[in-house]
Amino acid sequence: MRGDAKAKRLAGRLRAAAALSLALGIFVLDALSPLQGAVAVLYTTVVLLAARGRDRAPVIAAGVICAGLAAAGYVVGHWGAPLGSPAIRLGVSLLAIAITTILTARHQTAMAARRQSDQRYRTIFNAVGFPIWESDWSAAYAMLRDVDAPDAELVRRAAETAHIRTGNLAAARLFGFETREALAGRNIVGHHTPAAQAMFERFFLALKQGVTEIEEELQLLTCTGDTVDVVLRITLPPEHDGWRQVLVMALDVTERNRAQARLAQSQAELAHMSRVTTLGQLAASIAHEVNQPLSAIITYAKSGRRWLAREAPGAAEVGDCLDHIATNGTRAADVIARIRDLARKGEPRREVTDLAALIAETAELLGRDLNAHAVALRLDVADDLPPVAGDRVQLQQVLMNLMLNASQAMADTPAERRHLCVGARRDGTAVTVDVQDCGPGITGIAPERLFSPFFTTKADGMGMGLSICRAIVERHSGTLTAAERPGGGATFRFRLPIGTTTSEEIAA
Ligand code: ADP
Repeated sequence: MRGDAKAKRLAGRLRAAAALSLALGIFVLDALSPLQGAVAVLYTTVVLLAARGRDRAPVIAAGVICAGLAAAGYVVGHWGAPLGSPAIRLGVSLLAIAITTILTARHQTAMAARRQSDQRYRTIFNAVGFPIWESDWSAAYAMLRDVDAPDAELVRRAAETAHIRTGNLAAARLFGFETREALAGRNIVGHHTPAAQAMFERFFLALKQGVTEIEEELQLLTCTGDTVDVVLRITLPPEHDGWRQVLVMALDVTERNRAQARLAQSQAELAHMSRVTTLGQLAASIAHEVNQPLSAIITYAKSGRRWLAREAPGAAEVGDCLDHIATNGTRAADVIARIRDLARKGEPRREVTDLAALIAETAELLGRDLNAHAVALRLDVADDLPPVAGDRVQLQQVLMNLMLNASQAMADTPAERRHLCVGARRDGTAVTVDVQDCGPGITGIAPERLFSPFFTTKADGMGMGLSICRAIVERHSGTLTAAERPGGGATFRFRLPIGTTTSEEIAA
């Protein structure tokens, strides 16, 4: 650094000496030569020479000295002569020197401001805590500029030419390097996962179509081969000079994504636990559900035996009994399969789900429990209900939870008014499901509080049901809200976007 300053000082002195010599040369030529031209105009070159430095002061000094020398030259060469063309030439020269000095000084000021602004930009660039780098994509620009519809191979080759010009320390660390210098000139392709590579190719096409800002989340590879999740923001300056200076900012979201995955995992486990708890509450009803077809099977088996034991066995009647046995066996197996589904602990799946069928199935599952509590259930499901995409078991859990809550809320409602209504209809691009009861409603409680974990007004409540339901619905890109029902009671409403894509289709 100190060496640099010394060299600059020396260059300044040499410039000053050269300018002075040039000025004296012009003075001699002006004052002593018989030339009739406006030789003093040549002083402007001295001013321009002084402008090679960065400061304004030498330029102004050069201007003043040159003007003085021009005047002195006039005095020496033409003193006492009547005013005429030499005086006009002096005036022109002085004007030229003044204009050159003013313009050059202004230029110096503008340059100084620009240098200052560049310096500020560099300081911010290097000091910001997040990764930021400048890339040179000019070779890619040259390859793609004149091609209207570049094929994938050309875009891939163009992407391979992109390299980092300079980056800050945070950027170097993002890629696993210790110093900023390690980034300069580095080709980014080596740090792309295949998906990121494909994405960069799309970026090139987007930039080619005039987009100047792109933001995407993708994965990059560090120099040790680890993957980092980043949100990249690519900005093309307004006068981008053929993609020579593309600014790339990155936000490392690896930790955030990991935390989100852990949260989703815990939520899924919590939802599973809550489902199993609900099944525990329904144990008596479930036992009855299974018991009924089993008792019927026993009855039909006995009656079939009796028909066979007759002197003239009734083949048709025995056949009937066997049909009944098969039907009831299937019914019992269905109930058990549904319960097993609810109890299963697995990765949430995304499947095309018919909500009308799910509501009917849940009504059947809860039917006995609702009966036992004298709750009259009414289903009001539109015929043309479109499907939603989601995890069938989790969505059933939401329905079960809301319906059981509604039933429990009506424990103190007179039996003849214990109406529970589940309605579903299409609502624009979504499906809306309302679970309405005639209980005490939610007056006096801010509806949002109901969804906070551990909020309960029940002696044996956990207060997790609604919070889990909301998490499930939100994971399905939907909303779950509670409101007072006109006429008394509460309405819990969830909206889910209509959807027909399964997880397999998304993965494909
Ligand atoms: P828990 O059932 O264990 O209390 P939830 O999260 O399912 O947990 O419900 C939280 C609280 O929300 C309940 O304790 C109750 O006060 C209120 N709540 C839920 N559903 C209704 C409803 N249909 N009517 C009135 N209050 C309700």
